[in-house]
Amino acid sequence: MKRIVGLFVLGVAMASTAGKPNFLVIVADDLGYADVGFTGSKEIFTPQLDALAKNGMVFRNGYVTHPYCGPSRAGLMAGRYQARFGLEINLTYSPFDLHSGFPLTEMTIAERLRPAGYRTGIVGKWHLGAAEPFHPNNRGFDHFYGFLSGGHDYFPDSVTTAFPLLLSNGNPHYSANEGCYLPLQRNKNAGEFNEYLTTALSRDAAEFVQQGDQPFFLYLAYNAPHAPLQAPRETIGKYSHIQDPRRRTYAAMIDEMDRGIGMVVDALRRSGKLDNTLIFFLSDNGGVTSKPGHDDENWADNGPFRKGKGSMLEGGSHVPFMIHWPEGIRKPGVFDGLVSSLDIAATAVALGGGDTSGHALEGVDLAPYLAGAKEGSPHDVLFWRVQDGSAWAVRTPQAKYLTENWGGGKAQLYDMVNDPYESTDIVDRAPEKRAELAKLWNAWNAGNTANVFLQAGDYQKKRLEMYDELYRQLKEAAERRAPVVVD
Ligand code: CA
Repeated sequence: MKRIVGLFVLGVAMASTAGKPNFLVIVADDLGYADVGFTGSKEIFTPQLDALAKNGMVFRNGYVTHPYCGPSRAGLMAGRYQARFGLEINLTYSPFDLHSGFPLTEMTIAERLRPAGYRTGIVGKWHLGAAEPFHPNNRGFDHFYGFLSGGHDYFPDSVTTAFPLLLSNGNPHYSANEGCYLPLQRNKNAGEFNEYLTTALSRDAAEFVQQGDQPFFLYLAYNAPHAPLQAPRETIGKYSHIQDPRRRTYAAMIDEMDRGIGMVVDALRRSGKLDNTLIFFLSDNGGVTSKPGHDDENWADNGPFRKGKGSMLEGGSHVPFMIHWPEGIRKPGVFDGLVSSLDIAATAVALGGGDTSGHALEGVDLAPYLAGAKEGSPHDVLFWRVQDGSAWAVRTPQAKYLTENWGGGKAQLYDMVNDPYESTDIVDRAPEKRAELAKLWNAWNAGNTANVFLQAGDYQKKRLEMYDELYRQLKEAAERRAPVVVD
């Protein structure tokens, strides 16, 4: 009898995952909108991505929720605007700090999909907290190969040679590149690192996707092509047609990423999983262009969009974005409606039968749009907010209203139908439109939490001040104690 029950339970467990699609979410880091072939680059070669785009759906109006790394990744991972839970800065790599991480009150996509029978993995950049409670293996991921910090050096040699440098500067807490030179991790142990980082991550992702028959969710979070600008010499050599040496190296980094994506796609094809895998590809924010204090950092090309990483103008968060899924896309092509990185969680949880408990997801299930069952814009409105609303933006299919980051200044309003590249500010000419958009943003913002965290460098200073203060108090208390007297 027991045996029969056992078989029955096994049967149910197997049936529950049969036919479920796999999810591969590939995130590039600081990739310029126009720096891949499928968005128009003639300078940088991305044949693997272009092939996926040709057979997939390219979103011409695809957005992330924040114009830089950490908050954008937090929103993607939660499927909720990160302002809902006060994560509006880049979290410090801070392995002993139990307060700095993706809040435990939020669920990751992995935490939602694992109960539905998914094998879950993250390869690459986590950036959502380095202390034990925030470790990917404690946030729903069966598998982790990569790094907990916001960036990493690309060559293994730097890891060993840089350690003494970091330690000898006396105070590693202030290093802007904190975490960049640490060993990679494989789950909770040190991980191997024997080749160019992008290739190592791709190799591990290719291995992950071909294992077993259980459906999987893999978050392949490249740090490429984020600084430091480093690439193999021979790949840089392919880009001698690019004059600026920084852009030449950046191009080679994208080239390496594209080749790595090809390794993963090949693994999917060989294991017969390609047709029923949703491959999402997007950048976590716009490409790096000049901004106050960083006038010489301008190696990316965001195409027709103004400015780049950090900006509330389109260059900050309008990113290359596509889905490849032969079994679910009725007709490959381009899609004009507003799409958000929030939609990744919503789509995966809907298709995978994931856990919908906890906070409500804020994205849209894109599957009906891919199948041709629904038309139009998945979103009526999208919102942005940085650091407590010091800068903000709201866009509908028709218009966009914003204040710029870095000191802001006067609010700007654009007609996104006739002026999608934000060339003419009409804020003084359209008071009604301005009021309508302001009302939308205020209503959305009423559901947000004030920013909880401090930007990485500020946090490190604050933390040391707090330690100094704690030591001072303890010392004072110690001095007040009566001395021990022996007789
Ligand atoms: Ca980034």
